[in-house]
Amino acid sequence: MSKIRHNWTTAQILDIYNKPMMELLYEAATVHRLHHDPNTVQVSTLISIKTGGCSEDCGYCPQAARYHTDVEGNDLMTIQQVKAQALRAKSGGSSRVCMGAAWRNVKDGAEFDQVLEMVRTINKLDMEVCCTLGMVTENQAKRLAESGLYAYNHNLDSSEEYYKEVISTRGFEDRLKTIDNVRKTNVTVCSGGIIGMGEKTEDRAGMLVALSTLNPQPESTPINALVAVEGTPLEDQKPIEIWDMVRMVATTRIVLPETQVRLSAGRTQMSREGQAMCFFAGANSIFAGDKLLTTPNPEIEGDMELFKTLGLKPQKPFTKKEQPQTIEAKDSKFEAMGEKPKWTRPDHKIERNELAKQNRKPLK
Ligand code: SF4
Repeated sequence: MSKIRHNWTTAQILDIYNKPMMELLYEAATVHRLHHDPNTVQVSTLISIKTGGCSEDCGYCPQAARYHTDVEGNDLMTIQQVKAQALRAKSGGSSRVCMGAAWRNVKDGAEFDQVLEMVRTINKLDMEVCCTLGMVTENQAKRLAESGLYAYNHNLDSSEEYYKEVISTRGFEDRLKTIDNVRKTNVTVCSGGIIGMGEKTEDRAGMLVALSTLNPQPESTPINALVAVEGTPLEDQKPIEIWDMVRMVATTRIVLPETQVRLSAGRTQMSREGQAMCFFAGANSIFAGDKLLTTPNPEIEGDMELFKTLGLKPQKPFTKKEQPQTIEAKDSKFEAMGEKPKWTRPDHKIERNELAKQNRKPLK
């Protein structure tokens, strides 16, 4: 087994990222084989349980209320709607459901109670349940854990330096604090980021430094390629080349050897051959379903055809860690505390975010 290191530096990660492609692929594929079955890929389905109307200013996100995009907001879905979608995902080969809500942070109250009930419902379908709900306190993380949550997603998005060029309404340190709160429970951590936002290669390496120095390292890491949506501050970003994605996946595999590396947003822009190369480079998880929150994604039938061509099989649920128990609400040990945590609001000015809010473009 290659050792898990928590002391990677940006320079060391850049050396890996910039290796000749064939050497990089060989090294990543070797690490992959030491830690995982290379013919098994986890399939997750993302359900947007509450879409749009978000108060944040994340420059890549069409769900931010302040930008002028076509996203139609909806209220929190019902438990029955979510259960129906989860059952469809299970019959299509998904072992995990990730529920996303466009919230800055979780607030105690009826909506969070409803999400906890959704977690209980899906865990009872014997699927891994993940949530991505924004910042959470320790008590909220514990309530999610006792409902049967398997994973919590909270992306670092980019390096700490470039994060400030993309988001001004929430701080990088709060991302780390939320991950720390989740780590006080038995819920696994899913954290990754986005490439193609105009960042430098050093920022990609910087994000991997931040993820690899977490101890333990995240159990899953989504690598997203920006889907530039009209109306968002990043609408004019050119799609990244497949080689950038392959390099990023391979480098992630080497510095996070035990983590499930997930191909996430941007897969519709990748050829089948490009995706196959990412699997060879160490990706072993995908998001399935025709939508990723609000952006397009390949249909599950197409994914299953690709799996057949490549001889890949979907990973069974609870392969990496046993199924958590669900504690019913009436037996819960943790009550809503009505907390009002002071999450950071740096509120520095990001010009392109300001212009997108006013529906104007930067001068060329
Ligand atoms: S990424 Fe999340 S927090 Fe940021 S604007 Fe979109 S929904 Fe809100």
